[in-house]
Amino acid sequence: MKITAVETTLREVPVRHPFRWRAGLPGSGTSNTVMDLVIHTDEGVTGRAEVSHGAIMQDIVDRRLRDMLIGRDPLLKEDLFHRVLELDRLEEIPIYGLGTIDIALWDLTAKAASMPLYKAIGGFRDRIPAYASTVTYDTLEEFLDIADQCLAAGFRAIKLHAWGDARRDGHLCQKLREHVGPDIALMYDGSAGFDLVDAIWLGRALGEADYTWYEEPMREFSIESYRRLREKVEVPLLVGETSDGIHYNIADFLAFGAGDLVRTSTHYKGGITGALRIAHLADAHNTRAEVHGGGLPNLHLACAIPNTTWYESLVMGNPVVIEPGIGPDGAISPPDVPGIGWDALVQ
Ligand SMILES: [Mg+2]
Repeated sequence: MKITAVETTLREVPVRHPFRWRAGLPGSGTSNTVMDLVIHTDEGVTGRAEVSHGAIMQDIVDRRLRDMLIGRDPLLKEDLFHRVLELDRLEEIPIYGLGTIDIALWDLTAKAASMPLYKAIGGFRDRIPAYASTVTYDTLEEFLDIADQCLAAGFRAIKLHAWGDARRDGHLCQKLREHVGPDIALMYDGSAGFDLVDAIWLGRALGEADYTWYEEPMREFSIESYRRLREKVEVPLLVGETSDGIHYNIADFLAFGAGDLVRTSTHYKGGITGALRIAHLADAHNTRAEVHGGGLPNLHLACAIPNTTWYESLVMGNPVVIEPGIGPDGAISPPDVPGIGWDALVQ
């Protein structure tokens, strides 16, 4: 099989409920330019991926990736994964776009094998519980109300993106624990808003409130800072979400004892190929690679590997908008069609 064409198109997707992750970070804006990428082959099988901030990625496809891909065998994904990494050294491909080609190649591969993607890349379950991943709301009272709405919708786990103020966020986390009781899993995402001193203070508060994980409290440039934080807090640290370097970087977090759980994802970690490397690496350390972010490729990944717990489902707006496909049991299944199933209904 040979790649004959790489087609890209841009479309504007409105953000119906503009949001932010914490104070200090820019908001989502009101629309996102998504690039659809389709890889065509001489045997008629195609593979598709989509990526946010599409204009940047379209430029890289036009200047670099298309010529690299045409004429090559799309099933030799390890070869193409390394070619994309070589190009990343020159282009600094945005982290959210590094996996775009690989995702399309795996869609194509799974279609050629007549299997849903999650079965083609491992296959562990056909349904997984989701956690409600909140955007930042304005007040403590609104967060508690949102939590009630999430529980009423079926979720049994909630993750906060709060304000980025250690004292105020610590108070919120404690109040949320009192509000939902001991049986709901709670997680906290710092969106890299803290220095080490505040990260330690907040981490201790999260430990006292029995949080399941403490995610990305600091930028992930300094692995040594995370090692020091881990020495000071009891709450499990979830690390490596927005750091470059795919499995090479995660290997160092684990080798230096700088995290308890690690992040993997298809969109930030080099596609399916990179995400699986991280999942297997974490398994070798008897730990979990919790899947970061929603979307169909991440849903397939979460159902393919044993060492992840939830699918991350974003909730936004008030009343909250629940992602299509989340059932009353708070769980979700990937489409049972060959490939990723971009056009299939999620149930
Ligand atoms: Mg996060």
